[in-house]
Amino acid sequence: MSAAAPMTEPAIQTDSFDAIVIGAGMSGLYQLIKLRELGLRTRVLEAGTGVGGTWYWNRYPGCRFDSESYSYGYSFDQELLAEWDWTEHFAPQPETERYLNRVADKYDLRRDIQFSARVKAARWDEAGRMWTVELENGGLHRSRFLITAIGALSSPTMPSFPGMEEFRGPSFHTGLWPKEPVDFAGKRVAVIGTGASGVQTIQEVAKTAAQLTVFQRTPNWCAPLHNGTIPPEEMAEIRTRYDEIFQRCRETWACFLHTAHPQNTFDVPAEERRAFLEKLYAERGFGIWVGNYQDMLTDRAANEEVSRFIAGKIRERVKDPQVAERLIPKNHGFGTRRVPLETHYYEVYNQPNVTLVDSKATPIERITPTGIKTSEAEYEFDIIVYATGFDALRGAFDRIDFRGRDGVALKEKWRDGATSLVGMLVDEFPNMLMLVGPHNALGNIPRTIEFNVEWVADFLHYVTERGITRFEASPEAVGEWMAHVMEIAQGLLSMEVDSWMTGVNINVEGRQVRRVARYTGSAENYRAWANGIARRGYEGIGTS
Ligand code: NAP
Repeated sequence: MSAAAPMTEPAIQTDSFDAIVIGAGMSGLYQLIKLRELGLRTRVLEAGTGVGGTWYWNRYPGCRFDSESYSYGYSFDQELLAEWDWTEHFAPQPETERYLNRVADKYDLRRDIQFSARVKAARWDEAGRMWTVELENGGLHRSRFLITAIGALSSPTMPSFPGMEEFRGPSFHTGLWPKEPVDFAGKRVAVIGTGASGVQTIQEVAKTAAQLTVFQRTPNWCAPLHNGTIPPEEMAEIRTRYDEIFQRCRETWACFLHTAHPQNTFDVPAEERRAFLEKLYAERGFGIWVGNYQDMLTDRAANEEVSRFIAGKIRERVKDPQVAERLIPKNHGFGTRRVPLETHYYEVYNQPNVTLVDSKATPIERITPTGIKTSEAEYEFDIIVYATGFDALRGAFDRIDFRGRDGVALKEKWRDGATSLVGMLVDEFPNMLMLVGPHNALGNIPRTIEFNVEWVADFLHYVTERGITRFEASPEAVGEWMAHVMEIAQGLLSMEVDSWMTGVNINVEGRQVRRVARYTGSAENYRAWANGIARRGYEGIGTS
């Protein structure tokens, strides 16, 4: 198929496609493969100079999976599964970037990807039933269909301390890390932020820095990753279990290998409970978080019980009791924010070269040419690392000026919170589909990505087969889905806590209010809803 609509308005030379995909990360790459299968002429627009998305931008020291590698890779290609060796249970970033490059090579994807092409705006042209996509460098493209593959955690945010530009040394955001390695040996280093990125960075930088000072505003509950290498014979054994692994991920609540224990916390005798928590703490990966007692994230007393257990572990592992107390969260329970997985993170604070600063008690007042000034002291640094997170879920959309029907701006439409139909469509934005958009099931994200990409491909097959040139979600279908999204989040303890998961980011205007920012039901539930729409002939999506 080729886009037959005439190019109406742009005076500048444009290229015309059946589909434009924004982003060449895990979702964009797979979408390109699926759209090619449909015979759609597709262009992927990628801001970076290489493929990989998250695994292209986040090259900070220590960056790695928190999902087991073999549950994270693509499941659709048996040949790739048979060939690819993961070297660690939780692969480090360079390996994942290599893996995604291997996929790009294998499918010769780069010929349809335009690199260094950051999208500035996308405008729906009702007369032509086409999208016009404008790049920051001025380039224009047109396409019948527009698919966003721009990631959930891809818009890094910086704090706004006075003096930041005056710092004389290098400073980096974890999510915009340079390609050249940064040498911390013998340096005085500051890390601001203790989320999953900060924790991974800190435990790595602490190995070589002369001095590492961690500025922690809110402590997070962290748990051991228990990473290890995968020897060839173990990889061979894992390979024989891929069907079982992916089947397991299809059945679990959030597509991880781990899923909630079917008992409630206090239905189990204290001794047995303790033994169970000890077992989870000693096991690899997210079991302690998503494989814990089923009421741990909804029942306050149950949550306190697990929090007490983890606090005890922190006290055991950190020698200085005052530092240990500073590392124990007091304003939220275990698992109500995303749990960073760690490797000797707490022991780092026993090292003589590491200092923990409580930046809630003694806030950072400014960045100076030589370091950081807090309300209490002035510190000198050679390097500052900002592990300050992302404008999650919404930020990547806000950076692009999406204009739908009658020129409506997506940013305005979503001012008081995003709305969608199964996180993939928005009313007033015809012919646009979102991969891993707001209200997606997230979880072990490649599993969600594969589902979404295949749903989009099936839908576009349906559309193109019938000669449909325009589709749009109805406000009623969006309303019904959003009511479900809101309802299912009721009673979750995580909804009482500020975090990117509840749409809060103090560094971004308009992100101070807690919202239901993601789909909090099970992945199975999410898939059932999306598949139901498809089965009923794409009910709730108007076509012509
Ligand atoms: P994050 O969880 O949002 O953490 C940001 C940190 O920066 C928080 O500690 C925050 O403190 C602090 N911060 C932000 N602005 C600040 C300011 N103005 N002053 C002082 N402190 C400030 O971000 P992240 O660590 O990048 O992680 C985001 C998500 O990415 C994770 O939850 C995870 O889903 C994903 N991720 C995954 C992996 C993995 O799979 N291995 C690794 C890294 C990240 P407050 O808490 O007080 O706001």
